[in-house]
Amino acid sequence: MALRRNGVTDTRVLAAIERIPRELFVPHAFQDQAWEDTALPIDLGQTISQPLIVALMTQALEVNDRQKVLEVGTGSGYQAAILSRLCRRLYTIERLKPLLEEAEKRFQALRLHNITTRHGDGTRGWPSQAPFERILVTAAGGPDAPKDLTDQLAVGGVMVIPLGGDYREQRVVRYRRTETGLTREDLWPVRFVPLLSDPPAEPPSDLSG
Ligand code: SAM
Repeated sequence: MALRRNGVTDTRVLAAIERIPRELFVPHAFQDQAWEDTALPIDLGQTISQPLIVALMTQALEVNDRQKVLEVGTGSGYQAAILSRLCRRLYTIERLKPLLEEAEKRFQALRLHNITTRHGDGTRGWPSQAPFERILVTAAGGPDAPKDLTDQLAVGGVMVIPLGGDYREQRVVRYRRTETGLTREDLWPVRFVPLLSDPPAEPPSDLSG
């Protein structure tokens, strides 16, 4: 994989990618393509992201081993596994339970004990664990990052998220929380599956107030 030639220069990121066997996260039918630089289908219409994009987004996150990191969109667990090698503690949320259960088995098999998982809507973040020094979203929202997520970013924190909604217009965006607000940088174009937000629970219809 030509990661270096395509701008991945952070040696910690390159080492973490080398240490995580992508074939463990790819369905049996696609094993022969596990190390090709392409996104691949996983169950329930979702994807494991292209390795170059995983590497570039991880590098853009500027993560270090003192930080608490939130990932939204566990999927196969591949990105989470890489992040877990680079940070102190990784929290990851997935809305599709069967995917999360498979990912959890992989984390156990690889003895990645600093990952905590949650089944649910990641656009709401993880309030009881906030603030996070880093947040990485691996599904495309848009046009702006969900407010619950930016609110859960620590001062000095960085969030990387694909935004834009429409496949033709998505870009990876990097937010930084400063003392006075948020800065936003558009990085490069991508094509991610959508970040889907679950509707709030319906209130009972017989409310009287
Ligand atoms: N990070 C994954 C990996 O390494 O395999 C790739 C993730 S895939 C491109 C996007 C994932 O985001 C899907 O598994 C999808 O179900 C999940 N997703 C979409 N909207 C979500 C939400 N609101 N909360 C949590 N997960 C969500």
